[in-house]
Amino acid sequence: MAYEYDSENIFAKILRGEIPNNTVMETEHCLAFHDINPNAPHHILIIPKGPYVNFDHFGAEASDAELADFSRTLAKIAKKLGVDPASGDGYRLVANSGKNAIQDVFHMHVHLLAGRPLGRMLQQA
Ligand code: AMP
Repeated sequence: MAYEYDSENIFAKILRGEIPNNTVMETEHCLAFHDINPNAPHHILIIPKGPYVNFDHFGAEASDAELADFSRTLAKIAKKLGVDPASGDGYRLVANSGKNAIQDVFHMHVHLLAGRPLGRMLQQA
């Protein structure tokens, strides 16, 4: 089944500059900004600029340059925040993709959460 990207989603509007955001880092292929409803002292969303619905879509169809830029940017953000595991206390990445994960915004994004102990991985739904 082909992915259908809705260009009216909120992150598409952020990318087009129609809605403001609190940017942490921007590169050729991605944008990182503070989540509006933070779940941890550091709660950053990293999104590709390309029209991908979720991580699955991104992994399947993004170019090597987009994939590489995404991972490198994520690592740079962790370092910038001082939470990279080599010199800080670490972080958790979350990529809700699809119904069971309760994805709300259908533009691919990864949550980077850090700044406090984050507990075990999952709670019961
Ligand atoms: P998800 O449930 O994984 O799709 O997460 C969507 C995330 O987007 C939530 O954590 C929201 O708080 C966040 N969010 C929604 N609108 C905005 C916005 N305008 N700026 C920043 N974060 C937002």
